[in-house]
Amino acid sequence: LIRNNKKYYWSNGDLHTESGVIKESDLNKDTIKVKAHSGKEFFVIPALFIDKIEKIKRDPQAILEKDIALIMTYTSIDKNSIVLEAGTGSGKLSAYLARSVKKVYSYEINKNYIELAKNNLEFLDIENVEIKNKDIYNGIDENDLDAIILDLPHPWKVVEHAYRALKQGAFLVSYLPTIPQVIEFVKETKKYDFYFVKTIELIEREWIVEEQRTRPKSSLQHTAFLTFLRKL
Ligand code: SAM
Repeated sequence: LIRNNKKYYWSNGDLHTESGVIKESDLNKDTIKVKAHSGKEFFVIPALFIDKIEKIKRDPQAILEKDIALIMTYTSIDKNSIVLEAGTGSGKLSAYLARSVKKVYSYEINKNYIELAKNNLEFLDIENVEIKNKDIYNGIDENDLDAIILDLPHPWKVVEHAYRALKQGAFLVSYLPTIPQVIEFVKETKKYDFYFVKTIELIEREWIVEEQRTRPKSSLQHTAFLTFLRKL
């Protein structure tokens, strides 16, 4: 629901907002507007994936949409791809990948995060993610993968396994917050036949757009560096 450019997510029960309570019976019918008991009106729109994923529970630091978009674009993965990612964390990256590819394998060492990710994926109606309670530093079970995406602290420990598990020409991607980690990762990849594509930092700056007051919403913030390589 939208009122005064503010969004409220509803799935069941009465909806309590600062502008009043909206009865479940008013929300269950096909409508574009509803009134709270206060008389205030709300627009009703269907919840899309982006609305639902905003509601998932995140415990470990989840990757941001801007970086997910780059991964999807540069790796050329599509509906026929089989990809692997680690660690699962809240399952946010798994969920985005799952919407575009055939199958996602996701490795996670922490059982609590596996539980969290499974609940999140169920909430998002996603069924093509297989989460494995495995330490990826010890190896990868799958072969012929179309991409491997690593969002964990020591990705250089995965390079040897990734080289074996990837298809020829397929992408290995790491998402790392600091440059010393990037250097260590890239150094390790040089022991194998990888084509180094690039390391990028994507800065996103949102703007407040109001007459007389248009300005950046926040200062620029670093998230992480993405490094892309391809198996030769
Ligand atoms: N990409 C995730 C998301 O979008 O929510 C967040 C990943 S979080 C930053 C890092 C995760 O890697 C943690 O959940 C951690 O438990 C897991 N992890 C760390 N080392 C691991 C390993 N060796 N094997 C598998 N998972 C690991």
